[in-house]
Amino acid sequence: MKIAVVGIGVAGAYLMNRLSDDHDNHVIGFERTPQDQHDAVCAWATCENVMGGLSKKCGLNFEDYVLHDGKQMRVDLGQKGRIDLRLKGMVSYDKLQLIQDMVKGTEIKFGRAPRKEELEPEFDVIVDATGFHRNYLPRLQDELWIPCVQFKVRYPQGKEPFDDFYLRSFPSMSGYFWYFPLGNGYAHIGAGDFLKGHNRFVDEFMNKHQCEVVKKVGRPVRLTPPASCEPFTDGRKSVGVGESIGTVFPLLGEGIIPSTWCAELFINNMHDMKAYRDSVIDRFRMYALAFKFVKLKIAGKFSMAKHGMEMLKIYRHMKSEEERYGMKVSMGDMLKLSSI
Ligand SMILES: Cc1cc2nc3c(=O)[nH]c(=O)nc-3n(C[C@H](O)[C@H](O)[C@H](O)COP(=O)(O)OP(=O)(O)OC[C@H]3O[C@@H](n4cnc5c(N)ncnc54)[C@H](O)[C@@H]3O)c2cc1C
Repeated sequence: MKIAVVGIGVAGAYLMNRLSDDHDNHVIGFERTPQDQHDAVCAWATCENVMGGLSKKCGLNFEDYVLHDGKQMRVDLGQKGRIDLRLKGMVSYDKLQLIQDMVKGTEIKFGRAPRKEELEPEFDVIVDATGFHRNYLPRLQDELWIPCVQFKVRYPQGKEPFDDFYLRSFPSMSGYFWYFPLGNGYAHIGAGDFLKGHNRFVDEFMNKHQCEVVKKVGRPVRLTPPASCEPFTDGRKSVGVGESIGTVFPLLGEGIIPSTWCAELFINNMHDMKAYRDSVIDRFRMYALAFKFVKLKIAGKFSMAKHGMEMLKIYRHMKSEEERYGMKVSMGDMLKLSSI
Protein backbone atom coordinates (compact mmCIF):
# COMPACT_ATOMS: atom_id res chain seq x y z
CA MET A 1 0.00 0.00 0.00
CA LYS A 2 1.33 3.48 -0.84
CA ILE A 3 0.79 5.85 2.08
CA ALA A 4 1.42 9.60 2.34
CA VAL A 5 1.85 10.90 5.89
CA VAL A 6 1.40 14.66 5.83
CA GLY A 7 2.72 16.49 8.90
CA ILE A 8 5.68 15.22 10.90
CA GLY A 9 4.66 15.98 14.47
CA VAL A 10 4.30 13.29 17.16
CA ALA A 11 1.53 11.44 15.32
CA GLY A 12 3.18 11.63 11.89
CA ALA A 13 6.62 10.63 13.20
CA TYR A 14 5.19 7.63 15.06
CA LEU A 15 3.37 6.54 11.89
CA MET A 16 6.48 6.98 9.75
CA ASN A 17 8.46 4.78 12.11
CA ARG A 18 5.91 2.01 12.55
CA LEU A 19 4.45 1.88 9.04
CA SER A 20 7.83 2.01 7.29
CA ASP A 21 8.80 -1.18 9.16
CA ASP A 22 6.15 -3.11 7.22
CA HIS A 23 7.60 -4.04 3.82
CA ASP A 24 4.11 -4.25 2.30
CA ASN A 25 3.94 -0.46 2.66
CA HIS A 26 5.66 2.30 0.76
CA VAL A 27 5.42 5.31 3.07
CA ILE A 28 6.41 8.87 2.17
CA GLY A 29 6.21 11.73 4.66
CA PHE A 30 5.63 15.40 3.87
CA GLU A 31 6.47 18.22 6.26
CA ARG A 32 5.84 21.84 5.40
CA THR A 33 8.82 23.23 7.33
CA PRO A 34 12.29 22.83 5.83
CA GLN A 35 14.38 20.21 7.62
CA ASP A 36 16.69 22.72 9.33
CA GLN A 37 13.67 24.61 10.71
CA HIS A 38 11.62 21.57 11.69
CA ASP A 39 10.33 22.16 15.23
CA ALA A 40 7.95 20.64 17.74
CA VAL A 41 5.85 23.62 18.85
CA CYS A 42 4.78 22.45 22.29
CA ALA A 43 5.81 22.76 25.95
CA TRP A 44 7.29 19.22 25.83
CA ALA A 45 5.62 17.90 29.02
CA THR A 46 4.35 14.36 29.05
CA CYS A 47 4.11 11.24 31.13
CA GLU A 48 7.08 8.91 31.09
CA ASN A 49 4.99 5.87 32.12
CA VAL A 50 3.14 5.93 28.78
CA MET A 51 5.74 7.42 26.45
CA GLY A 52 8.27 4.82 27.61
CA GLY A 53 6.14 2.03 26.07
CA LEU A 54 5.29 3.95 22.90
CA SER A 55 8.94 4.88 22.28
CA LYS A 56 10.00 1.27 22.83
CA LYS A 57 7.70 0.20 20.00
CA CYS A 58 9.78 2.52 17.80
CA GLY A 59 13.02 0.97 19.04
CA LEU A 60 13.88 3.99 21.21
CA ASN A 61 14.58 4.46 24.90
CA PHE A 62 12.43 7.33 26.21
CA GLU A 63 14.71 7.90 29.22
CA ASP A 64 17.38 9.18 26.80
CA TYR A 65 15.14 12.16 25.97
CA VAL A 66 14.06 13.23 29.47
CA LEU A 67 15.16 16.77 30.35
CA HIS A 68 13.47 17.28 33.71
CA ASP A 69 11.89 14.69 35.98
CA GLY A 70 9.00 16.37 37.84
CA LYS A 71 8.36 15.79 41.53
CA GLN A 72 5.68 18.39 42.21
CA MET A 73 3.61 20.79 40.17
CA ARG A 74 2.40 23.96 41.83
CA VAL A 75 -0.96 25.07 40.43
CA ASP A 76 -1.51 28.70 41.38
CA LEU A 77 -5.20 29.57 41.60
CA GLY A 78 -4.63 33.29 42.24
CA GLN A 79 -6.87 34.56 45.03
CA LYS A 80 -8.27 31.05 45.53
CA GLY A 81 -4.94 29.73 46.80
CA ARG A 82 -2.92 26.95 45.27
CA ILE A 83 -2.71 23.22 44.76
CA ASP A 84 0.51 21.25 45.06
CA LEU A 85 0.18 18.19 42.86
CA ARG A 86 2.45 15.25 43.56
CA LEU A 87 3.81 14.06 40.22
CA LYS A 88 4.10 10.39 39.28
CA GLY A 89 6.02 10.28 36.01
CA MET A 90 5.47 13.73 34.54
CA VAL A 91 8.59 14.90 32.73
CA SER A 92 9.72 17.38 30.15
CA TYR A 93 11.58 15.76 27.26
CA ASP A 94 13.34 16.65 24.03
CA LYS A 95 10.30 16.20 21.83
CA LEU A 96 12.02 17.35 18.65
CA GLN A 97 14.92 14.93 19.09
CA LEU A 98 12.54 12.02 19.72
CA ILE A 99 10.59 12.93 16.56
CA GLN A 100 13.82 13.18 14.56
CA ASP A 101 14.99 9.80 15.86
CA MET A 102 11.62 8.18 15.13
CA VAL A 103 11.82 9.21 11.47
CA LYS A 104 15.50 8.29 10.96
CA GLY A 105 15.87 6.16 7.84
CA THR A 106 12.36 6.94 6.56
CA GLU A 107 11.54 8.88 3.40
CA ILE A 108 10.39 12.45 4.12
CA LYS A 109 10.08 15.45 1.85
CA PHE A 110 10.67 18.52 4.00
CA GLY A 111 9.59 22.00 2.99
CA ARG A 112 6.58 20.49 1.21
CA ALA A 113 2.87 21.10 1.87
CA PRO A 114 1.36 19.28 -1.10
CA ARG A 115 -2.23 19.85 -2.17
CA LYS A 116 -4.52 16.86 -1.79
CA GLU A 117 -5.09 16.78 -5.56
CA GLU A 118 -1.36 16.27 -6.11
CA LEU A 119 -1.26 13.27 -3.80
CA GLU A 120 -4.49 11.51 -4.70
CA PRO A 121 -3.37 9.98 -8.03
CA GLU A 122 -0.19 8.57 -6.48
CA PHE A 123 -1.24 7.30 -3.02
CA ASP A 124 -3.76 4.78 -1.70
CA VAL A 125 -4.06 6.55 1.65
CA ILE A 126 -3.28 10.15 2.65
CA VAL A 127 -2.89 10.61 6.41
CA ASP A 128 -3.72 14.11 7.61
CA ALA A 129 -1.36 14.47 10.59
CA THR A 130 -1.22 18.25 10.20
CA GLY A 131 -2.44 18.84 13.76
CA PHE A 132 -4.42 22.03 14.27
CA HIS A 133 -4.47 22.73 10.52
CA ARG A 134 -6.50 19.72 9.39
CA ASN A 135 -5.77 20.70 5.79
CA TYR A 136 -7.05 17.55 4.09
CA LEU A 137 -10.35 17.08 5.91
CA PRO A 138 -13.68 18.93 5.78
CA ARG A 139 -13.77 22.16 7.83
CA LEU A 140 -15.40 21.83 11.25
CA GLN A 141 -18.29 23.94 12.46
CA ASP A 142 -18.43 25.34 15.94
CA GLU A 143 -14.84 24.62 16.97
CA LEU A 144 -13.15 25.51 20.25
CA TRP A 145 -9.46 26.23 20.19
CA ILE A 146 -7.18 28.17 22.51
CA PRO A 147 -4.58 30.61 21.16
CA CYS A 148 -1.14 30.05 22.73
CA VAL A 149 2.22 31.78 22.89
CA GLN A 150 5.42 30.24 24.15
CA PHE A 151 9.04 31.21 24.74
CA LYS A 152 12.02 28.95 25.18
CA VAL A 153 14.17 30.83 27.68
CA ARG A 154 17.36 30.48 29.65
CA TYR A 155 18.09 31.70 33.17
CA PRO A 156 21.52 32.16 34.67
CA GLN A 157 22.34 29.33 37.07
CA GLY A 158 20.49 29.72 40.37
CA LYS A 159 18.18 32.46 39.02
CA GLU A 160 15.37 30.18 37.79
CA PRO A 161 12.00 31.36 39.21
CA PHE A 162 10.94 27.74 39.92
CA ASP A 163 12.77 24.45 40.18
CA ASP A 164 9.81 22.30 39.08
CA PHE A 165 6.60 22.44 37.02
CA TYR A 166 4.43 25.51 37.67
CA LEU A 167 0.98 26.46 36.34
CA ARG A 168 -1.13 29.55 36.91
CA SER A 169 -4.77 28.86 36.17
CA PHE A 170 -6.78 31.78 34.74
CA PRO A 171 -10.24 32.70 36.11
CA SER A 172 -13.13 30.52 34.82
CA MET A 173 -10.51 28.05 33.59
CA SER A 174 -10.26 30.01 30.33
CA GLY A 175 -6.64 28.89 30.08
CA TYR A 176 -3.39 28.81 31.98
CA PHE A 177 0.19 30.00 32.15
CA TRP A 178 2.97 27.41 32.32
CA TYR A 179 6.59 27.26 33.37
CA PHE A 180 8.11 23.89 32.46
CA PRO A 181 11.81 23.33 33.29
CA LEU A 182 13.95 21.83 30.52
CA GLY A 183 17.13 21.35 32.56
CA ASN A 184 20.37 23.40 32.70
CA GLY A 185 18.52 26.70 33.28
CA TYR A 186 16.30 26.31 30.20
CA ALA A 187 12.49 26.44 30.42
CA HIS A 188 9.38 26.73 28.31
CA ILE A 189 7.27 29.67 29.43
CA GLY A 190 3.93 30.12 27.78
CA ALA A 191 0.21 30.61 28.10
CA GLY A 192 -3.01 29.85 26.32
CA ASP A 193 -6.19 31.74 27.03
CA PHE A 194 -9.58 31.54 25.37
CA LEU A 195 -10.17 35.14 26.53
CA LYS A 196 -6.87 36.20 24.92
CA GLY A 197 -5.08 37.42 28.05
CA HIS A 198 -2.14 35.06 27.42
CA ASN A 199 0.32 37.53 25.85
CA ARG A 200 -0.10 40.06 28.63
CA PHE A 201 0.39 37.46 31.33
CA VAL A 202 3.56 36.05 29.75
CA ASP A 203 4.98 39.58 29.20
CA GLU A 204 4.38 40.46 32.86
CA PHE A 205 6.05 37.27 34.02
CA MET A 206 9.06 37.80 31.79
CA ASN A 207 9.44 41.40 32.92
CA LYS A 208 9.45 40.20 36.50
CA HIS A 209 11.84 37.29 35.91
CA GLN A 210 14.40 38.53 33.38
CA CYS A 211 15.81 35.82 31.12
CA GLU A 212 17.47 35.23 27.77
CA VAL A 213 14.89 34.46 25.06
CA VAL A 214 16.01 31.61 22.84
CA LYS A 215 12.87 31.23 20.73
CA LYS A 216 9.26 32.46 20.48
CA VAL A 217 6.48 30.40 18.93
CA GLY A 218 2.72 30.45 18.85
CA ARG A 219 -0.16 28.39 17.56
CA PRO A 220 -3.63 27.45 18.75
CA VAL A 221 -4.52 24.12 20.36
CA ARG A 222 -7.70 22.36 19.28
CA LEU A 223 -9.85 21.46 22.30
CA THR A 224 -12.81 20.09 20.34
CA PRO A 225 -12.73 16.34 21.07
CA PRO A 226 -12.88 13.55 18.46
CA ALA A 227 -16.64 13.10 19.00
CA SER A 228 -17.13 16.61 17.56
CA CYS A 229 -14.35 16.41 14.94
CA GLU A 230 -16.10 14.05 12.55
CA PRO A 231 -15.73 13.19 9.79
CA PHE A 232 -12.30 11.66 10.29
CA THR A 233 -12.04 11.05 6.54
CA ASP A 234 -12.91 13.06 3.44
CA GLY A 235 -14.72 10.04 1.99
CA ARG A 236 -11.92 9.64 -0.58
CA LYS A 237 -8.34 8.86 0.41
CA SER A 238 -7.62 11.24 3.29
CA VAL A 239 -7.91 10.24 6.93
CA GLY A 240 -7.10 12.26 10.05
CA VAL A 241 -4.78 11.11 12.84
CA GLY A 242 -3.85 13.09 15.97
CA GLU A 243 -4.85 16.65 16.80
CA SER A 244 -6.35 17.02 13.30
CA ILE A 245 -9.25 14.96 14.71
CA GLY A 246 -9.16 16.42 18.22
CA THR A 247 -7.01 14.05 20.28
CA VAL A 248 -6.15 16.59 22.98
CA PHE A 249 -7.28 16.16 26.60
CA PRO A 250 -9.27 19.41 26.94
CA LEU A 251 -8.79 19.91 30.67
CA LEU A 252 -4.99 20.14 30.26
CA GLY A 253 -4.52 20.96 26.57
CA GLU A 254 -2.36 17.83 26.52
CA GLY A 255 -2.00 16.17 23.12
CA ILE A 256 1.28 14.24 22.91
CA ILE A 257 0.09 10.94 24.38
CA PRO A 258 -3.44 11.07 22.91
CA SER A 259 -2.12 11.86 19.41
CA THR A 260 0.41 9.02 19.58
CA TRP A 261 -2.32 6.67 20.81
CA CYS A 262 -4.45 7.79 17.90
CA ALA A 263 -1.61 6.89 15.52
CA GLU A 264 -1.48 3.45 17.14
CA LEU A 265 -5.26 3.04 16.63
CA PHE A 266 -4.79 3.95 12.98
CA ILE A 267 -2.05 1.32 12.54
CA ASN A 268 -4.29 -1.34 14.12
CA ASN A 269 -7.32 -0.46 12.00
CA MET A 270 -5.97 1.05 8.78
CA HIS A 271 -7.78 -1.46 6.58
CA ASP A 272 -11.18 -0.76 8.16
CA MET A 273 -12.10 2.92 8.50
CA LYS A 274 -15.28 2.18 10.45
CA ALA A 275 -13.28 0.20 13.02
CA TYR A 276 -10.77 3.08 13.18
CA ARG A 277 -13.53 5.63 13.71
CA ASP A 278 -15.22 3.50 16.41
CA SER A 279 -11.97 2.83 18.26
CA VAL A 280 -11.08 6.56 18.31
CA ILE A 281 -14.53 7.53 19.57
CA ASP A 282 -14.37 4.82 22.20
CA ARG A 283 -10.81 5.56 23.39
CA PHE A 284 -11.44 9.30 23.73
CA ARG A 285 -15.03 9.13 25.05
CA MET A 286 -14.08 10.85 28.29
CA TYR A 287 -12.61 13.80 26.34
CA ALA A 288 -16.12 14.79 25.25
CA LEU A 289 -17.18 15.07 28.89
CA ALA A 290 -14.03 17.01 29.84
CA PHE A 291 -14.69 19.31 26.88
CA LYS A 292 -18.25 19.97 28.07
CA PHE A 293 -16.90 20.80 31.54
CA VAL A 294 -14.32 23.26 30.15
CA LYS A 295 -16.92 24.90 27.90
CA LEU A 296 -19.35 25.35 30.80
CA LYS A 297 -16.61 26.82 32.97
CA ILE A 298 -15.49 29.28 30.30
CA ALA A 299 -19.09 30.37 29.68
CA GLY A 300 -19.62 30.79 33.45
CA LYS A 301 -22.43 28.23 33.30
CA PHE A 302 -20.94 25.44 35.40
CA SER A 303 -23.16 24.54 38.35
CA MET A 304 -22.14 21.94 40.90
CA ALA A 305 -25.82 21.02 41.45
CA LYS A 306 -26.45 20.48 37.75
CA HIS A 307 -23.10 19.19 36.54
CA GLY A 308 -21.58 17.68 39.70
CA MET A 309 -22.12 14.08 38.52
CA GLU A 310 -20.26 14.77 35.28
CA MET A 311 -17.39 16.31 37.18
CA LEU A 312 -17.32 13.22 39.39
CA LYS A 313 -16.98 11.03 36.30
CA ILE A 314 -14.01 13.07 35.06
CA TYR A 315 -12.45 12.85 38.51
CA ARG A 316 -12.94 9.05 38.63
CA HIS A 317 -11.44 8.71 35.16
CA MET A 318 -8.33 10.71 36.08
CA LYS A 319 -8.04 9.05 39.48
CA SER A 320 -8.11 5.58 37.93
CA GLU A 321 -5.45 6.67 35.41
CA GLU A 322 -3.01 8.53 37.67
CA GLU A 323 -0.14 6.59 36.13
CA ARG A 324 -1.18 7.76 32.66
CA TYR A 325 -1.65 11.41 33.65
CA GLY A 326 1.57 11.31 35.66
CA MET A 327 0.11 12.94 38.74
CA LYS A 328 -1.71 12.21 41.97
CA VAL A 329 -5.36 13.21 41.58
CA SER A 330 -7.57 14.13 44.55
CA MET A 331 -11.20 15.15 44.85
CA GLY A 332 -10.24 18.13 47.02
CA ASP A 333 -7.95 19.47 44.27
CA MET A 334 -10.62 18.92 41.64
CA LEU A 335 -13.18 20.85 43.71
CA LYS A 336 -10.72 23.69 44.26
CA LEU A 337 -9.96 23.87 40.55
CA SER A 338 -13.61 23.92 39.58
CA SER A 339 -14.28 26.75 42.04
CA ILE A 340 -12.16 29.32 40.19
C1 LIG B 1 2.17 26.08 22.81
C2 LIG B 1 1.73 24.64 22.99
C3 LIG B 1 2.16 23.90 24.06
C4 LIG B 1 1.76 22.56 24.21
N1 LIG B 1 2.25 21.84 25.24
C5 LIG B 1 1.93 20.53 25.36
C6 LIG B 1 2.54 19.75 26.36
O1 LIG B 1 3.40 20.21 27.14
N2 LIG B 1 2.20 18.45 26.45
C7 LIG B 1 1.30 17.86 25.60
O2 LIG B 1 1.01 16.67 25.74
N3 LIG B 1 0.71 18.60 24.62
C8 LIG B 1 1.03 19.91 24.47
N4 LIG B 1 0.48 20.64 23.44
C9 LIG B 1 -0.41 19.96 22.49
C10 LIG B 1 0.43 19.06 21.56
O3 LIG B 1 1.59 19.74 21.15
C11 LIG B 1 -0.35 18.64 20.32
O4 LIG B 1 -1.66 18.30 20.63
C12 LIG B 1 0.34 17.45 19.64
O5 LIG B 1 1.66 17.79 19.30
C13 LIG B 1 -0.43 17.07 18.38
O6 LIG B 1 0.34 16.19 17.61
P1 LIG B 1 0.11 16.01 16.06
O7 LIG B 1 1.21 15.15 15.57
O8 LIG B 1 -1.29 15.59 15.82
O9 LIG B 1 0.23 17.48 15.44
P2 LIG B 1 1.45 18.50 15.51
O10 LIG B 1 2.40 18.13 16.58
O11 LIG B 1 0.86 19.85 15.52
O12 LIG B 1 2.23 18.27 14.12
C14 LIG B 1 1.69 18.69 12.90
C15 LIG B 1 2.81 18.80 11.90
O13 LIG B 1 2.23 19.03 10.62
C16 LIG B 1 2.95 20.04 9.94
N5 LIG B 1 2.02 20.61 8.96
C17 LIG B 1 0.95 21.42 9.18
N6 LIG B 1 0.31 21.67 8.02
C18 LIG B 1 0.99 21.00 7.05
C19 LIG B 1 0.80 20.84 5.65
N7 LIG B 1 -0.22 21.41 5.00
N8 LIG B 1 1.68 20.08 4.95
C20 LIG B 1 2.73 19.49 5.57
N9 LIG B 1 2.95 19.59 6.91
C21 LIG B 1 2.07 20.32 7.64
C22 LIG B 1 3.39 20.98 11.06
O14 LIG B 1 4.50 21.76 10.64
C23 LIG B 1 3.74 19.99 12.16
O15 LIG B 1 5.09 19.54 12.06
C24 LIG B 1 0.86 21.96 23.26
C25 LIG B 1 0.43 22.73 22.18
C26 LIG B 1 0.86 24.05 22.03
C27 LIG B 1 0.41 24.83 20.84
